[in-house]
Amino acid sequence: MHAAVLREYGEPLQLREVPGPEPDPGGVIVRVEACGVCRSDWHAWKGHGEWADDRVPRGQILGHEPAGEVVAVGDAVDRFGPGDRVVVPFSLGDGTCRYCRQGHGNVCTDGRALGFEPGAPGAFAERIAVPQADYNLVERPSWLSARDAAALGCRYMTAYHALVERADLAAGDRLAVHGCGGVGLSAVQLGSALGAHVIAVDVDEGALDRAASLGAADLVNPNATDPEADGGLGVPERIRDRSDGGVDVSVDALGIAETCRNSVRSVRPRGTHVQVGLTTDAERGEVSLPTDRMTRWEVSFVGSRGMPPTNYDDLFEVIEATGIDPGALVSRELALSEVSERLAAMDDYGVDGIEVVTDLSG
Ligand SMILES: [Zn+2]
Ligand SMILES: [Zn+2]
Repeated sequence: MHAAVLREYGEPLQLREVPGPEPDPGGVIVRVEACGVCRSDWHAWKGHGEWADDRVPRGQILGHEPAGEVVAVGDAVDRFGPGDRVVVPFSLGDGTCRYCRQGHGNVCTDGRALGFEPGAPGAFAERIAVPQADYNLVERPSWLSARDAAALGCRYMTAYHALVERADLAAGDRLAVHGCGGVGLSAVQLGSALGAHVIAVDVDEGALDRAASLGAADLVNPNATDPEADGGLGVPERIRDRSDGGVDVSVDALGIAETCRNSVRSVRPRGTHVQVGLTTDAERGEVSLPTDRMTRWEVSFVGSRGMPPTNYDDLFEVIEATGIDPGALVSRELALSEVSERLAAMDDYGVDGIEVVTDLSG
């Protein structure tokens, strides 16, 4: 089958023919119809994570946001059969540990990350293997196309898990979103659909325009202080000014030191900061925080990663009930041969919205 392989960090992915996967007894093979391209792919492609001995190895097939159709099933699979329409969450659990059994398969201690590990080849390929399919695989509703489902996982489902399941966002809350790339825009759209007042923060005016079109009520560009309106204030002060003393929930969807600290400083007393973005080699996984402020005002700091496969039905219900369109975030459809160029465009944040590979053989 056709696949895009990480041959060398920062160099174009190698398009080549590789052996197609065979299902384990508990696994299935999915024909990939669409797969999003995400900043996590960019981190892997750049070879980030060497400091933590956590680099994605050369030879890896990247791609972790697939949707498609089941084409083969192992003998022990009960819930799925050929022809089933599915979404594949990137965090693959073993289905048996205490976290999986309690519904937290996204933090399975024996899990695999699709598209980031040799044991889990990714979906920039015509077909993928999904282990423990009865636990990991998600049936795709009839109203959800593969293209829109690819936009949904990982960014949409990550935003949902962060806002609803980790931060208890409720209608009427004030929400700040720092960084309006794919997951940030998903948080803007979902937060606004859930009835929150959303303040979107980004240095790029195009990203802010898109945030406004997805429901952000207020926009903050850290680089464009309006002396009249803002008096030269920094981002957290501007957000607190516009939210009656701080937002209920603030999300760092980027993961650099500045957005993380700005986000923590944006929340009201007893508010919640949610960390979604992973740091770069500049932070090496650690950011210093205003701990006295967090203590004084009882600010919560929670981490959030992806979403457990077992919670997708809740997300589908919210999408149906609110009428929001995950496909509205898709800015471009790609052939597999275009992925390298689009990863390179992320070097200087030159990607707007969610880009999805829909031609896996081209
Ligand atoms: Zn597990
Ligand atoms: Zn992703």
